Amino acid sequence: MPEELNPFKISQQQLDNAAEIMKLDRVAHKILREPVRTLIVNIPVKTNGSAEVFTGFRVQYNDARGPGKGGIRYHPKESLDTVKALAAWMTWKTALANIPYGGAKGGVICNPKELNDTTLEILSRGYIRALGRFIGPKTDIPAPDVYTNPQIMAWMMDEYSRLVGHDEFGVITGKPLDIWGSEGRFDSTAMGGMYVLRESAKELDIDLRNATVAIQGFGNAGNFAFELVKKLFGSKIVAVSDSIGGVYSGEGLDYEKLVRTKKNGSITAYEKGEKISNKELLTEDVDILIPAAIENQITKSNADNVKAKIVLELANGPVTPDADKILFEKGILDLPDFLVNAGGVIVSYFEWVQNTGNYYWSEEDVYKRLDSIITKSFIDVMSMQQKYSAMRKKISPRTAAYIVAVERVAKAMKVRGWY
Ligand code: NAD
Repeated sequence: MPEELNPFKISQQQLDNAAEIMKLDRVAHKILREPVRTLIVNIPVKTNGSAEVFTGFRVQYNDARGPGKGGIRYHPKESLDTVKALAAWMTWKTALANIPYGGAKGGVICNPKELNDTTLEILSRGYIRALGRFIGPKTDIPAPDVYTNPQIMAWMMDEYSRLVGHDEFGVITGKPLDIWGSEGRFDSTAMGGMYVLRESAKELDIDLRNATVAIQGFGNAGNFAFELVKKLFGSKIVAVSDSIGGVYSGEGLDYEKLVRTKKNGSITAYEKGEKISNKELLTEDVDILIPAAIENQITKSNADNVKAKIVLELANGPVTPDADKILFEKGILDLPDFLVNAGGVIVSYFEWVQNTGNYYWSEEDVYKRLDSIITKSFIDVMSMQQKYSAMRKKISPRTAAYIVAVERVAKAMKVRGWY
């Protein structure tokens, strides 16, 4: 991977940029450039006479504001640097949302598509046994992420409960409702993104009812984003893609038909419209662009061709730092991932609060509280941008979001006497 696309280097670069502008204390900066704790485990898995060893990671980036929080990814190309970057971003995400957590992330190098359910369960339980003494509802609370799901969270919660000798529902979030997951969790990431989109459209005076939208990715985040943009605002989604490619239709795409098409393989088999590549999708002439797939999609080589007025980063890390600068100079409102996709972790927080208090909320309550928290984060970012603008310093929403988050973590470390 070229050094400029290494996610951990990117996360450090983003922090350095904010640190310089906000004149962050030298030692606080040094602490925040690296994780507090990095754990590497090797998990033997024995099934039906054959055995394999899988390598897993858990990175606890910073816990000055509360226990670590962050998902566990299962991916054949998982790397420690990716997990470190994601753990850093979780730290900024929880701080920006102003929820009482730090940041963490986990991963296992494996291809879940090649593992049967039995192997997947043994692996998931093994991961928890290897890390059991380092996680817990008061220390580090995992959740699902790429290629992990509520069933895997249920096995993990069960294994942790066996280790400690009692039910511990609050050790993991994103669980099935049957074992006290939260209402509203399944589409919380996209829902949070919608509240940010609503606020940003107000800011730019865009009428979402007449807006056109392109969405990259049709997985969990992209699929719900598609459904919600249509349902909540009535916008027209003209382009969408998956890993194979995309489709474009000026008349707008039909959600139900896309879901049916995707069930049989790829959305590229959608009967109407024109086939486009993932690259072309990013530069379509639309009002709103929602990257909801993977990292490093908008780079210095295509940023100049982006035509959208708002880029809503539902994926993690879809815009590289070089591209971020270009979008900002073009006057595009590029809303950073750790603001836009915080809905998942905010509702995870609600799940943990409900597990801890043993009292459960309705879906309506969950959405209302999510709206209030994420809208406040958006306002905090815009206010920070205005504060710098009043000092004649133009900063991007991403830098403003970093400053809000880093300031909160640095203050917590300071008051706790870490520097
Ligand atoms: P997913 O695996 O369900 O979906 C990913 C989608 O991206 C799929 O449609 C896949 O076909 C597509 N894709 C894969 N490679 C692609 C490529 N090269 N070009 C275009 N599309 C490609 O994953 P998800 O949960 O929807 O997550 C998507 C992004 O959102 C990730 O960056 C993830 O970290 C972020 N995110 C998700 C959540 C969540 O709750 N699901 C929360 C926060 C952040």
